[in-house]
Amino acid sequence: MLGLMQDQPLLISSLIEFAARHHRSAEIVSRRVEGDLHRYTYADAAVRARRVAGALDRLGLAFSDRVGTLAWNGYRHFELYYGISGSGRVVHTINPRLVPEQVAWIANHAEDQVLCFDLSFLPIVKAIWSKCTTVKHWIALCDADALPADSGIAGLRSYEAWIAGESDQYDWPEFDERSAAALCYTSGTTGNPKGALYSHRSSVLHAYGAAMPDAMGLSARESILPVVPMFHVNAWGIPYAAAMTGAKLVFPGAALDGKSVHDLIESEGVTMAAGVPTVWLGLLNHMAQHGLRFSTLKSTVIGGSACPPAMIASFKDTYGVTVLHAWGMTEMSPLGTVCNLKLHQTRLPAEQQMAVLVKQGRAVFGVELRIVDPDGRDLPWDGQSAGDLLVKGPWIIQSYFKGEGGDPLLPGHWFPTGDVATIDTDGFLQITDRSKDVIKSGGEWISSIDVENIAMAHPGVAMAACISVPHPKWDERPILVVIKKPGQEVSRQDILDFYAGKIAKWQVPDDVLFVDSIPLGATGKIQKIKLREQFKDYQLPAG
Ligand code: AMP
Repeated sequence: MLGLMQDQPLLISSLIEFAARHHRSAEIVSRRVEGDLHRYTYADAAVRARRVAGALDRLGLAFSDRVGTLAWNGYRHFELYYGISGSGRVVHTINPRLVPEQVAWIANHAEDQVLCFDLSFLPIVKAIWSKCTTVKHWIALCDADALPADSGIAGLRSYEAWIAGESDQYDWPEFDERSAAALCYTSGTTGNPKGALYSHRSSVLHAYGAAMPDAMGLSARESILPVVPMFHVNAWGIPYAAAMTGAKLVFPGAALDGKSVHDLIESEGVTMAAGVPTVWLGLLNHMAQHGLRFSTLKSTVIGGSACPPAMIASFKDTYGVTVLHAWGMTEMSPLGTVCNLKLHQTRLPAEQQMAVLVKQGRAVFGVELRIVDPDGRDLPWDGQSAGDLLVKGPWIIQSYFKGEGGDPLLPGHWFPTGDVATIDTDGFLQITDRSKDVIKSGGEWISSIDVENIAMAHPGVAMAACISVPHPKWDERPILVVIKKPGQEVSRQDILDFYAGKIAKWQVPDDVLFVDSIPLGATGKIQKIKLREQFKDYQLPAG
């Protein structure tokens, strides 16, 4: 016997219409590429999303056709999210930090029909437009009078002119909730990038999960700043979860330096923010240099790579801001776990609470976790046993776009994340490494994340990356590559001494090498493959 409740499909269009009706005056504020602040409401955004939908119909786009975007976080990008997916097409966010050839490759692989871009990405578009064989329409996200006359791009139109004549009304179509809504390619550290194709159902369920109190805790009382780009796994789903809850949205545009982010947090009364650790490094340095404070910020979600404990402590002790350490991946829409204390932990002394808060947190309902040994046997949740992390759930990938790479799932629909983790008795996950970055010395694993986190707590260290180098006796040994903080004098020995009593002696790196820069990928993660390549001829010191 089936239940007798309405079989209403979970569709992305319902999120913006809900926000427009129930949170019509809640604000969406965007720092524009031009530098000024644009301000309007969910009701205004819904009108313009409907116009985008009408304009796509007029171009003759079919159901499930892909529309690419190369854009910063801003109101026009937000309207595209809803106009494209709501009308049954697929919004394909492309990372503009990739090299132009990769952007063209991805647009061709996705078979994008339309490509919408911020004018700051005009140089990329000029370099690739003739190579994008499927794109028929190029739309610059600007006013008609800002459209460059001499771009050389055939048929280039301004976004404002494109949607100007469309109706404010639009009958959002109703269709199967499993239909594709958004497409995002993985950062692809090896081989070609692969597409994760989210459905309406997975996106709406993920928004519910992300908004929960023990996840990001979004509500109509929050003002949220997604610094994480809308081209990085849909800004972790915040554009959907914010509309679902009526939270004020503050979009930072292209200005992600410490000063711009701090100014925006203060001027817009931001209560929570979200981004990768590298962004917060810039903000914290700026604040320390200028003796600044936060007047409204309560929490910040940090994920995408391991958040150094020193950063969590600095936010909390110096600024009274709670870091919500989160873990996920493109293949998971992206949210897997968020670190929020449980009731009994709120009574623990500060030091013991910190030992919990540095972990990547607990699973959001909708994400099942397992850790297994190399033979696939389950490992105990004792906070000690580290194993390959497997996940499953309704917003986790089943297969990559166009079936690239074959079936990624293990028996029982478990997706292997490629991460190595422990889980403790309270269910808190701690990522110890990527399986391919793990360092195996004398048959024992060394967590490169642990080694890096300790170094990051040293006052003279701006950034640290731990990689393995071959060793005749131990197979592999860790070395540490460090960028010093400007104006700080710190020696190799200072850093090695800093490990004393923090990890076992055999886990301490064999050498510390100072560099001016460490290669970062398009989403701000350290590129260990490049770093290992850079140090491939390195010889360990004798002894
Ligand atoms: P991406 O799909 O580009 O978002 O990358 C996902 C990968 O980033 C994960 O599989 C992890 O290896 C890493 N990652 C994400 N969040 C964290 C975190 N909080 N701590 C450690 N690694 C993380």
